[in-house]
Amino acid sequence: MSTGRDYDVVVVGGGGAGLCAAIEAHDAGARVALVEADRKLGGSTALSGGVYYAAGTSVQRAAGIVGDDADAMFEYYMTLNQYRVEAALARVLCDEAAPGLEWLIGLGVEFLPEGLYRSGVERVARGHGATGAGAGIAAALERAVRARTIDVALDARVEALLPGEQAGCIAGLRVSGADIRVPSVVLATGGFGANPYLLHRLYPDAARQGDWAWYIGSPHCQGDGLVLGEAVGADLVGHNRGLLLTTPNFRKVLEVFVPGWLVYVNREGRRFVNETAEYAVMAGVIQAQTGGSCFAIFDEAARREARPHPRYADAFAAGVLPMNWVADELAAQVRTGRVIQADTLDELAVRCGMRPGGLAATVEGYNADARDGVDRAFFKNGEEMKPIATPPFFAVEIRPAIICLTSTGLRIDARTRVLDGNDRPIRGLHAAGETAGGVLGERYIGGGNSIANAIVFGRRAGREAAATARASNEP
Ligand SMILES: Cc1cc2nc3c(=O)[nH]c(=O)nc-3n(C[C@H](O)[C@H](O)[C@H](O)COP(=O)(O)OP(=O)(O)OC[C@H]3O[C@@H](n4cnc5c(N)ncnc54)[C@H](O)[C@@H]3O)c2cc1C
Repeated sequence: MSTGRDYDVVVVGGGGAGLCAAIEAHDAGARVALVEADRKLGGSTALSGGVYYAAGTSVQRAAGIVGDDADAMFEYYMTLNQYRVEAALARVLCDEAAPGLEWLIGLGVEFLPEGLYRSGVERVARGHGATGAGAGIAAALERAVRARTIDVALDARVEALLPGEQAGCIAGLRVSGADIRVPSVVLATGGFGANPYLLHRLYPDAARQGDWAWYIGSPHCQGDGLVLGEAVGADLVGHNRGLLLTTPNFRKVLEVFVPGWLVYVNREGRRFVNETAEYAVMAGVIQAQTGGSCFAIFDEAARREARPHPRYADAFAAGVLPMNWVADELAAQVRTGRVIQADTLDELAVRCGMRPGGLAATVEGYNADARDGVDRAFFKNGEEMKPIATPPFFAVEIRPAIICLTSTGLRIDARTRVLDGNDRPIRGLHAAGETAGGVLGERYIGGGNSIANAIVFGRRAGREAAATARASNEP
C-alpha cells in the first residue's frame, strides 16, 4: 500500500466489520486501503459459527415466519439487557440487521430457511445460520473486496494513530513503521480476548477464571483498536462485558450443547436452571450463583451410558471431535480429579463444598420428576432426565470460562464516530464490530448478536468514514 496521501479511508482489521467497512467506503466513492495484521483476511468472523441475528428477513418469510420486525427485536433487545445498552446503537442494529442480511445474500452468502432457529430466548426464530458458517460469510466479503479497487495489506499491524494538528482529531496512522496520512480511519480490530492484560483490566469476569480461561477467537484480536483509540483520547464503554461459554475444563474442547441428563446444582445444593438452556444466557446464570460456578451431578448409570449426540457420533468416532460428556472421558477425568466421585450424595456435597443436606433433597425431588418424565422445577425435556440413584455419584465443576468474544469497546455514536470522555467525536476516527462498545450488553441476546453487530456497524462505519473524508476535502 502507498504511504503518500492516496487514500480517503484506511480500514484497520479485515474481519467481518472491516471487510464490510472497506466495501461500503469504496462504494461511497472513497479510495480505500484495508490493513490486516494476520496473513489472511477473516479474523474471528471466519472462525465463527456464522449465525446472524435479524428480524423481518426474506429467510424468515420463506420459512413461514411473518410479522416479525425491527420493533419487536428492539423491545426484546432492550428488555433482555434491562436498558443497559446504548439505545440509539441498539436501534440501529435492530433496524439494519435485516437489510444487512439481504446485502450479504446479495454478495453470495447463503442463508437457508432450514438454517433458521431460535438462537436466544425469543418466541420467533431469528438466528440465521450461514452455509459454510463464518468462513462462508468471510469468503463472500473477501470476494467482494477483491472485486473492487481496494488496496489490501496483509501481515501489517497498525501500531499507532497520528494525532492531528488540532486537538480532537487524527491525521493518519502508523503501519509497520511507516506513517500514512489519511483523513478517515475505521478501527475494526475485533475484541481483546487474546490479550491477558486487557482481560484483567476490562473483563475481570473472564480474567478471574485463571487457567480455566481460554480464547477461541483469532490470536490477533489483542484489543489494538481499544489501545489505539484510548491513546488519542477515546472513551471506553461496557466494562466487564463479553460472552463466556461454560466448560468442565477437562481439556480445550468447545461443547456448546450439554446433555440433558446432567443436573446442575449450586453450592446450596439446589438446581437453578434448565441445564439445556441457551448458551447465550447460561454464563450469566451460573456467574450469579454462590462462588460463580456450579456442579454437574450424575450417577454411575448415566456415566456408563454417556454417548455423543447422534448428530456428532460419526465425527467423534473418527476422532475429529473430542467430547467431554462421554463414558471413557468421564472415567479418565475421575483419575485426574476433575470428576469428583463419592459413594453417597452427602459425601459428594462435602467434597464439593456445598451446604450439607441440600444436594440430597434436590436429588430426591429430581428423581421423582425423572421417573414421571416431567421436570416440574425448570421444565427441561422430561425424556432426557435420568434419576441419580446408582452409586458412585459424580460431580464436575462447571465455570463460564471459554472466552468467545469481548464487548467492552470504544464509545461510538450512531454514526460510528469514536467519542471522547465528553462525548465529542474524535474527528476522522470511526469504529465498528467488537472494537466498538455499547451495542452488545451484559446479556448476549442470542446466537448471531455479534456477527449482526459486525456487519451492520461495519457497513455504517464505511459509509460514514467516506463522508468524513469527503467533508475533510471540502474547502
Ligand atoms: C468460535 C467462534 C464462534 C462464534 N460464533 C458466532 C456466531 O455464530 N454468531 C455471532 O454472532 N458471533 C459469533 N462469534 C463472535 C463473532 O464471530 C465475532 O464477535 C465477530 O465476528 C467479530 O467481528 P469483528 O469484525 O469485530 O472482528 P474480527 O472478525 O475478529 O476481525 C478483526 C480483525 O482485525 C485484525 N487486527 C487486529 N489488530 C490489528 C491491527 N493492529 N492492525 C491490523 N489488523 C488488526 C485481526 O487480525 C482480525 O482479522 C463467534 C466467535 C468465535 C471465536
